[in-house]
Amino acid sequence: MTSVSVSVSVSVSVSVSVSVSVSVSVSVAGSSIRVSTGACRVEISRGKGMQRVLVVGAGPAGLTVALELARQGLKPDIIEKNPVGSTFSRAVGLLPSSMQIFEASGVAETIRREAIVFEAAVFHVDAKQTARVSLLAESGQKSMLLGLAQDRTEAILKTALQNAGVTVGHGVELVSLDLKKSHAIATLCSGEGGREVREYDLVVGADGVRSNVRRSLGMAFEGFDLPELWSIADIDVEGWDTSVFSVFRMSGGRVAVVAPLEKNRVRVIANTEDAVKSLPVPITVTRTRRTATFRISVRQVPQYNHGPVYLVGDAAHCHSPVGGRGMNLGISDAADLARRIIEGDLEGYGVTRHAAGRDTIKFSERARRAMTTRSPVVRFVLSTMLKLLERHDRLREPLLRRLLELR
Ligand SMILES: Cc1cc2nc3c(=O)[nH]c(=O)nc-3n(C[C@H](O)[C@H](O)[C@H](O)COP(=O)(O)OP(=O)(O)OC[C@H]3O[C@@H](n4cnc5c(N)ncnc54)[C@H](O)[C@@H]3O)c2cc1C
Repeated sequence: MTSVSVSVSVSVSVSVSVSVSVSVSVSVAGSSIRVSTGACRVEISRGKGMQRVLVVGAGPAGLTVALELARQGLKPDIIEKNPVGSTFSRAVGLLPSSMQIFEASGVAETIRREAIVFEAAVFHVDAKQTARVSLLAESGQKSMLLGLAQDRTEAILKTALQNAGVTVGHGVELVSLDLKKSHAIATLCSGEGGREVREYDLVVGADGVRSNVRRSLGMAFEGFDLPELWSIADIDVEGWDTSVFSVFRMSGGRVAVVAPLEKNRVRVIANTEDAVKSLPVPITVTRTRRTATFRISVRQVPQYNHGPVYLVGDAAHCHSPVGGRGMNLGISDAADLARRIIEGDLEGYGVTRHAAGRDTIKFSERARRAMTTRSPVVRFVLSTMLKLLERHDRLREPLLRRLLELR
């Protein structure tokens, strides 16, 4: 065994240490360092000058950026202000586009073993079932809508990240950011009041809807807040069909949605103060994991970056959970940003992701308004449309492709 150490100067100086058994040749392509040997090839990609990357927030978006960077050789620091991972599920549905992103890291395989396949959406008016629309696209397994509790998705991402050599710094909070010409200075605070100041070439703000990264840089978050109070419940149940997604539309524009999380666990969301109580059918609750109320904001940043600081996920956009898009949009932001960091091409990030966010916000606002409308005419049209979708695959398939974002 020969130990070889190579030092190369490109736009930055990078040092790589490799153990090989035969001859070694080193080539520099753009900003990545390639070490080829007769026996193996190791590629360490650092992006153009991007050696020190900080990811703030270990929700689905932050974990995805960190994992996508780490698996391609750039190990970022990732911090999370909560001392432990969440055990509460907000998002449930994983779109095929998210699963495609997770293929390369192996996360998709683990998720597929654990997740529920949503076979159908069952619509009710009060307690009466009015339509059962299949969610199984003709294109098969890779086009399915999968359901998994957000805390499980996060836990799986975190394990993969750990396997790629990066550990989430739990209990560490970003308290301020100071921008210099070519880098950012982050002040971090950990539980016991310890403060640390660190320099980074690039900072990813993945710190959710109340993003401190966004606020500390004074970045605008344009949009509006809806007055309605919504509620959520994460509960264990008995005797509930957990292969389908159930939607209940009631008088006065009230709506409740039951999404399965596991075999005997569901998440209920309603535009009332008590999600479970608002259900017009009986449900046997064996354990209440958590309940909460929340209000919906519909907002987006006009600029996705400020100097070397880039926003992903809810830090950059938020909207109603109707349509199940938020987490998936954040995962797509994250994968796109990670790819651009590795390729050293951050130029188009803001424009591309702003357009994707704007489309998603439009889609989910339309869906929210349709679901919560009080207009008898719109309610009638919606019920008729759902019945047609139930019966006619020719109508259902294109709509499903749009819903599942299949190309
Ligand atoms: C009730 C509800 C239901 C939803 N249902 C769905 C659904 O069905 N489908 C869907 O796709 N989406 C859904 N969403 C949206 C989805 O949950 C979010 O879009 C998703 O969690 C966003 O991920 P994120 O990583 O951007 O942010 P978050 O998940 O909010 O993660 C941000 C992380 O940053 C940490 N953090 C914050 N500030 C700091 C700091 N200063 N320093 C360090 N760490 C910090 C936070 O503790 C947090 O862990 C729902 C949302 C809600 C509220």
